[in-house]
Amino acid sequence: MGYPFQGIINRRSPHFPIILIVCLSLGCSGKNGMNEPGEKAAFKGQYPIRAVATVGMIGDAITRVGKGLVSVECLMAPGVDPHLYKASQKDVDRLDKADIVFYGGLHLEGKMTEILEKIGRIKPSIPVGEQLPAESLIRSEMKQGEITTDPHVWFDASLWAIVVEKIGEALAGFDPSHASAYQGEAQAYRKEILELHEWAKARIAEIPQSQRLLVTAHDAFHYFGRAYGIEVRGLQGMSTASEFGLNDVNQLVDTIVERKIKAMFIETSIPRRSIEAVQQGCLARGQQVVIGGELFSDSMGDPSTPEGTYLGMFRHNINTIVDSLK
Ligand SMILES: [Zn+2]
Repeated sequence: MGYPFQGIINRRSPHFPIILIVCLSLGCSGKNGMNEPGEKAAFKGQYPIRAVATVGMIGDAITRVGKGLVSVECLMAPGVDPHLYKASQKDVDRLDKADIVFYGGLHLEGKMTEILEKIGRIKPSIPVGEQLPAESLIRSEMKQGEITTDPHVWFDASLWAIVVEKIGEALAGFDPSHASAYQGEAQAYRKEILELHEWAKARIAEIPQSQRLLVTAHDAFHYFGRAYGIEVRGLQGMSTASEFGLNDVNQLVDTIVERKIKAMFIETSIPRRSIEAVQQGCLARGQQVVIGGELFSDSMGDPSTPEGTYLGMFRHNINTIVDSLK
């Protein structure tokens, strides 16, 4: 029989056979605890299905796609840095109780690798970034010469639209009796995200070419830069776990002074002192550069605000960047 996740489980995942076995033995039995001929594997628990997401962007997508059928809990609150986040006992309990788990993967949750791998052995766990076509992912060389894949895929809305579809496929596979509902919601949300993508391209094009440089605290915006035609520079590397030194500050100051860049941006999930060091460096060279505002990078805004949704967070970032650099 076909396994519902077969199409989307990461090829490189060493856990696929184990997940398969667990599902076959526990979760995929028919009405009487036995598979009836021709019956598909089905979710046999209670509704709503309990989904756990690590970061808000993923939680947002599951909420939209699983409307009315899935309850979503996010482990990380707004403003929390996923690269440094360590799972608490409460998180472990939530993961234990979850029916299905979604996370960023590609080492986004760098300090949670072990727990997420453990959970992946006992229940469906989907690293959403790893479901994207390999050729769409950005790879770069770290200082130590190691090649890593950039996990910040939500900043290319056209890629995030694919993630939304994959979440729809995963939920449809897990709960086949509502497959068309999940797929319908996923298609509707995908369409909204693709509209956002076109709007973002048009807005970024309003910035004069020479000013199209986005300076932020950490390297979260490479997908954004590639998708919307703006050069990006971060003080810290792709993970905030890497330190930055005087050399990094000086290099960034040189670029800003040479290009006469007017604004830099802080990030809600990162202390502002890193970007302030660059601001002071520019001032010492006689160049005033303002903090153009706060961007949501690895975390969304408070749930009670428009920035507490993916669409609102993305619009806020675009408007903040364009209005400061234009
Ligand atoms: Zn990041």
